[in-house]
Amino acid sequence: MTTTYGHLTWEEVRDADKERVVILNVSATEDHGPHMPLDTDTVLGMAVANGVAQAAPDEVLVMPPVPYGFNEHHKDFPGVIWIQPETLIAFVTDITKSLAHHGFRRILLLNSHGSNHPVLDLAARKTVIETGIICVSASYWNLMSERINEVRKSEIGGIAHAGEFEAAMYMHLHPERVHIEKSTTQNLHNPDSKFFNLDLAGGGGGAMLMRWWSEVSPDGTMGDPTVADPETGRKFLHAAIEETTALIREIRALPILQRRDHH
Ligand SMILES: [Zn+2]
Repeated sequence: MTTTYGHLTWEEVRDADKERVVILNVSATEDHGPHMPLDTDTVLGMAVANGVAQAAPDEVLVMPPVPYGFNEHHKDFPGVIWIQPETLIAFVTDITKSLAHHGFRRILLLNSHGSNHPVLDLAARKTVIETGIICVSASYWNLMSERINEVRKSEIGGIAHAGEFEAAMYMHLHPERVHIEKSTTQNLHNPDSKFFNLDLAGGGGGAMLMRWWSEVSPDGTMGDPTVADPETGRKFLHAAIEETTALIREIRALPILQRRDHH
């Protein structure tokens, strides 16, 4: 059977193994520096999702992606399409509730755009409360921090937005769409800060301030894409697919539990 949800007929959905994990990639359409296209988060998120489907064809179904996200703070850059977080939560939970209605019991909201992270966390929690099925959210880079740090060439601060990580993977997938010669280094990491760290594999920091993107980056980049190369990108993507596949297997093994109403 195909792993592409949109290629199924309604009869195939009716007869499908409902323990398959349904993967919904949620991304964004936004500036990625002068060197990468607006669709970067969708291309990368779907490369991970489809890679998982290839690795585990009997265990998943891949939904058509939601290519828009929460990113109004990017709107000073032409091309950005932003969705209010309340709208995005409602939209995503309408999708998850539809899947629950058809009998699916395990969903992964696979995030590929940083600022969607808290939004999808809430959407997954709302899905659990409203349907009782298992709904997990994860930003794929958080599944693989150690492996990013094993192969990266950039310093901490080099992997945030349109930096080494995303540029290298897009170069691996579609080199003709990445103009790395136009890229600039915008490493905004402050090594003296104990609590602020926007590097995707930098261990967080504990505190979050999301400023207007145009206040902090002159060309939309945050990180160091200048050191990106396709071979490192291949390694990043391979690790992302392996770790996400491992997560899928954990989700499939999770027991369905019963609530106890103690009133
Ligand atoms: Zn991105």
